[in-house]
Amino acid sequence: MAALCRGRPRWKRLNCLQVFTRNFSGKYDYDLVVIGGGSGGLACSKEAAQLGQKVAVLDYVEPSAKGTKWGLGGTCVNVGCIPKKLMHQAALLGTAVKDAKKYGWQMPETVHHDWATMAEAVQNHVRSLNWGHRVQLQDKKVKYLNLKGSLLDEHTVRGLSKAGKETILTAENIVIATGGRPKYPTQIPGAAEHGITSDDIFWLKKSPGKTLVVGASYVALECAGFFTGIGLDTTVMVRSIALRGFDQQMAGLVTDYMEAYGTRFVWRSVPKRVDKLSSGALQVTWSDTETGMEHRDTYNSVLWAVGRAPETKALGLDQLGVQLNKQTGKIVVGPDEATSVPHVYALGDISEGRPELTPTAIKAGKLLAHRLAGQSTALMNFDNVATTVFTPLEYGCVGLSEEEAERRHGKEGIEVFHAFYKPLEFTVAERDASQCYIKVICERGGDQKILGLHFTGPNAGEVIQGFSMGLQSAVGQTGTGDASCLQPSASTTISLWD
Ligand SMILES: Cc1cc2nc3c(=O)[nH]c(=O)nc-3n(C[C@H](O)[C@H](O)[C@H](O)COP(=O)(O)OP(=O)(O)OC[C@H]3O[C@@H](n4cnc5c(N)ncnc54)[C@H](O)[C@@H]3O)c2cc1C
Repeated sequence: MAALCRGRPRWKRLNCLQVFTRNFSGKYDYDLVVIGGGSGGLACSKEAAQLGQKVAVLDYVEPSAKGTKWGLGGTCVNVGCIPKKLMHQAALLGTAVKDAKKYGWQMPETVHHDWATMAEAVQNHVRSLNWGHRVQLQDKKVKYLNLKGSLLDEHTVRGLSKAGKETILTAENIVIATGGRPKYPTQIPGAAEHGITSDDIFWLKKSPGKTLVVGASYVALECAGFFTGIGLDTTVMVRSIALRGFDQQMAGLVTDYMEAYGTRFVWRSVPKRVDKLSSGALQVTWSDTETGMEHRDTYNSVLWAVGRAPETKALGLDQLGVQLNKQTGKIVVGPDEATSVPHVYALGDISEGRPELTPTAIKAGKLLAHRLAGQSTALMNFDNVATTVFTPLEYGCVGLSEEEAERRHGKEGIEVFHAFYKPLEFTVAERDASQCYIKVICERGGDQKILGLHFTGPNAGEVIQGFSMGLQSAVGQTGTGDASCLQPSASTTISLWD
């Protein structure tokens, strides 16, 4: 309250000031103000409102460097999971069409994919989700404000409209859920001028054509995978390794499959410059980090997938003393999502050390709402979160990579159970199943606690969800995930299914 009093005279001087009527119950306009209407922020605000809290959520989309904009719902709905998974599905259908002939379907020798049709359908679905979120907020009596939020103090948020109109809101608690945005390389001439990112790709009306994807994160490989699947000439440029942080044997299977599927990989190379030729084509010059040799090729599009940066700059966190991680720029939070400033919380991609995933942001947001409403003390459990990479051969995993398991338990302290397998649907279609694989990493001693489980193959997302549920409930019931249900223990790497 002291901070609130200190700030008041300054707010009176603000132009076009609109102060919301205070609720009758207390000192503030709202019980909760959430900045950011993405996966975490929407879940938190809706849950809090259902628990009887007076809630407002601010969401504001800064257009991408290329001018792409979208609606309410955040990254996942507009420029992440949803359009990505739908475009991945478009690519899988292309493979299914090829398989279909072997299964007796009569169709023309060549089939073509039309980007504009796919993009329009995907974008229409995303717009329906934007609308659905607005309706849900209204139904649940959450005040939605299309304003860019920043903090004036631990109980006060300033919202700025596109036209520059300011609105001040006060709240008992403030939640920051502003997510992140893709980065552009800063040292490469032409990179920002001629390139695009994942913030643009799903909203293109015309096909990106022959595309260079720079980076080897899951976003890079997923985009390259669906480009290849819908018939685009696609190259991935990798500086060092693919899928950093994931199990590297599995990453190798994913990229091997992609190479066999038609995606070109330029390994150990870094782009030097991007020039637009008079023909409109983009000429990319890169150098091979091993030989030092320079190479060139031309593309219709260059997609930078070189990481994401947290959206903290415009939030006024410095003045408030909210602690950030200096390396990542993310907000440091405790197990209860609390920041270093009382009454200010952060969740989702903006918070340090959390998985950058929608389901965890949603769950953490709901649990935070319960705690803030005094309904529960339950904390989010971020252990053993399953995740899937939607590459042409999907890869799902839960728990530790083999590298991380070795680091924590020593090479002798772990035991790996594994199997290559052939999905039945690959047989008639005569598809190569060389990269379809499962491995389970266990502690060698005791009751062989499962440390990590990795799977490549069709429907990996569904498969790994089932396994992770088993793993979690085994941990919950016995304090350990036990591999004995899969295969008796032995001293070396063991085949699970012969
Ligand atoms: C290409 C791609 C594919 C992905 N695929 C998956 C997947 O398959 N599965 C998965 O689980 N996750 C996936 N993710 C990650 C997922 O999208 C994020 O983890 C998730 O959206 C994070 O939610 P959030 O609430 O933290 O932030 P966001 O969803 O990013 O929402 C933040 C919102 O806050 C707004 N905002 C920012 N600053 C302000 C401000 N000052 N005032 C008001 N509003 C502001 C932003 O515009 C945005 O709307 C993917 C991401 C990308 C980029």
